[in-house]
Amino acid sequence: MTFASLGLIEPLLRTLESLDYKTPSPVQAQAIPPILKGRDLMAAAQTGTGKTAGFALPLLQRLMMEGPQVASNSVRALVLVPTRELAEQVQQSFLTYGQDLPLRSYAVYGGVSINPQMMKLRKGLDVLVATPGRLLDLYRQNAVKFNQLQALVLDEADRMLDLGFARELDELFVALPKKRQTLLFSATFSDAIRAMAGELLRDPLSIEVSPRNAAAKSVKQWLIPVDKKRKTELFLHLYQSKRWSQVLVFANTRKGVDELENELLRQGIAADSIHGDKPQPTRLRALQRFKAGEVKVLVATDVAARGLDIDDLPLVVNFDLPIVAEDYVHRIGRTGRAGATGQAVSLVCADEVQLLSAIEALIQQVLPRVDEPDFIPDHRVPQTVAGGVVVKKPKKLKQKTVPGAGKGKIHLGNWFESDDTPAPKAVRKVPSFGGKPKKGGKKP
Ligand code: AMP
Repeated sequence: MTFASLGLIEPLLRTLESLDYKTPSPVQAQAIPPILKGRDLMAAAQTGTGKTAGFALPLLQRLMMEGPQVASNSVRALVLVPTRELAEQVQQSFLTYGQDLPLRSYAVYGGVSINPQMMKLRKGLDVLVATPGRLLDLYRQNAVKFNQLQALVLDEADRMLDLGFARELDELFVALPKKRQTLLFSATFSDAIRAMAGELLRDPLSIEVSPRNAAAKSVKQWLIPVDKKRKTELFLHLYQSKRWSQVLVFANTRKGVDELENELLRQGIAADSIHGDKPQPTRLRALQRFKAGEVKVLVATDVAARGLDIDDLPLVVNFDLPIVAEDYVHRIGRTGRAGATGQAVSLVCADEVQLLSAIEALIQQVLPRVDEPDFIPDHRVPQTVAGGVVVKKPKKLKQKTVPGAGKGKIHLGNWFESDDTPAPKAVRKVPSFGGKPKKGGKKP
């Protein structure tokens, strides 16, 4: 199959050739023709599948072929994303794919001054990529109008709900014209996402490029049982003995990220970090240094790392298991991208067995365990079995079993970056679409 056979116009085909994109990825092959025809789409696709080009290419083409010239403060296509990093990345994709087209695109997000964004909107934009909170601010200040809107894309919709954006989204959706094309992309499909799709999409085509809620197949995954207090020591041991070249490490809290980064720097390892406390330029610089190979270990929280596009990343380490099982799939999606194989190793302590169990239920496999001889834990990590049932609970375990884990329905409490230790006290449902945002939900 070729891009030409999907119906793309000559300028886009030339650009794809210059990028050395030879064949469409599965999501592109399935999504591009119906989007070109104007259909609504609901796609289960993770980062790394080529989904961005899957919607950007046909939208650029439609913006070229149809609709009026954009008026001041208006936008013709709106792409909503959960984080600033993803906003930048998606905007970059529109710039790249649209390099030979006379269309204007821009990204707006919180954490930076709103004035330049207002200025940029004055002339009107063909494509606006935005995080929901900042877009709502701009809308309330009359800096953006939606009367010319032709297309709406919700990228990583599951993450937007996880981050507590339901209320902002609700308010925005009311402001959008009813007649439009809507495309919804999500790595996972919880009931809340399905409800949202039901409200927003008209006779959508559903496509799925990897098995539902399944982790990417090209990633080799395993875990190493270890006592909690020895995780840093184990990480250093692995980094040195396995001669890891570049690693993206996930920790659950800002404090955890800082502590690990500081220890790595003390050991003379080129490390940097990204988390929600850091200003956007600092985060982008860390990412650029990591991409350039100056930084060997990048330590990150889930929120900050969402949407990172790092080519050929060989290894992801889960220093902590994520509190929300779906984040495991997103994390390991950072490796094994665009057809390459990757590795994902999790350092798991006894306290985390319920989280492990929920992840295994979600990905429908039990992660293989590999003992590291000098690090056999004193607190044994109980065996888990397929289906996510823990065979035997450890005595010290404080967390509750997660009923229905893996169906994308239940999340543990305030999981992201709020304090030192995530507090998995309450078992709480994802807010249904249109409901109040989850307590603790915040702008990325
Ligand atoms: P995405 O899933 O949109 O984040 O894309 C993942 C990566 O795959 C990005 O670095 C894209 O540049 C790259 N990519 C997307 N489509 C293709 C393609 N058809 N051929 C080669 N690389 C691609």
